[in-house]
Amino acid sequence: MIEEILRLKKEKEAIILAHNYQIPEIQDLADFVGDSLELARKASQVKDAKIIVFCGVKFMAETAKILSPDKKVLLPDLDAGCPLADMAKYQDVLKMKEKYPDAWIVSYVNTNADVKSISDVCCTSANADIVVRNVPAKKIIFLPDKNLCWYVKQKVSEKEIICWDGYCFVHRKFTVEEVKKAREKYPNAEIIVHPECDPEIQKLADGIYSTSGMLKRAKESNSKIFIIGTEEGLLHRLKKENPEKEFYSLGSGKICPNMKKITIEKLYLSLKEEKYEINLKPDILEKAKVSLERMLEYV
Ligand code: SF4
Repeated sequence: MIEEILRLKKEKEAIILAHNYQIPEIQDLADFVGDSLELARKASQVKDAKIIVFCGVKFMAETAKILSPDKKVLLPDLDAGCPLADMAKYQDVLKMKEKYPDAWIVSYVNTNADVKSISDVCCTSANADIVVRNVPAKKIIFLPDKNLCWYVKQKVSEKEIICWDGYCFVHRKFTVEEVKKAREKYPNAEIIVHPECDPEIQKLADGIYSTSGMLKRAKESNSKIFIIGTEEGLLHRLKKENPEKEFYSLGSGKICPNMKKITIEKLYLSLKEEKYEINLKPDILEKAKVSLERMLEYV
């Protein structure tokens, strides 16, 4: 099946993008592996590809379509959604906009395209604090992740920030007990966690990083052992890129079942039958593009 995937990819002039949380076999097959925005940017820079197969969840494939509207973007399983993104619904965000007309809506990239289209600006977990600090508004509505919002509040105390009540159920599974046990077992290890983890976990960690930030930190740090507080798929890349270092999941490995919906077989069928194509209404696409591109003005 892997040989067939490679053949179809060439024949159809396709590229395969895989998120850091995908299963190792898919990461190894992909042309690029990264976080959602790195991948979407990559897709828009590849001039000769006609098809982008996005191995990740739906909002990521949508983001790739927004930044590469002329390409055919495929998601191998349409049920691969993100419960966090679904916690900010279009109508509810509109109501918040009406309630706080002078506030800027800052949307984490983990939002659906319709919500991006009514946001003032987007951000990633790597730049959320910088975007919030630099936008020309004193009042911010930050959505959808309340833990990332808490992290931003610690860094940007000069602004009034209203947090949306969403969360990632995968990152919320990390416990204080797991951090304490990891410290006992690996006293020399560096514990790094994602800002989608609960504030109690963030406070106990040695550092808080996005997935791309964790990859950078693992390379640059003198530590030899790392305890990783994010979805366990990232460990594959951390180990591959730093074979001389050791990486362990914080507590039991935390798995995002949505990310794991993409299998080699579904990837093969996606390429073969060119399914499932991501299409967005032109006005949603155009407006969402503005909020994504505006992010670059504030970082
Ligand atoms: S890990 Fe959390 S935020 Fe990421 S896709 Fe899964 S549910 Fe969504």
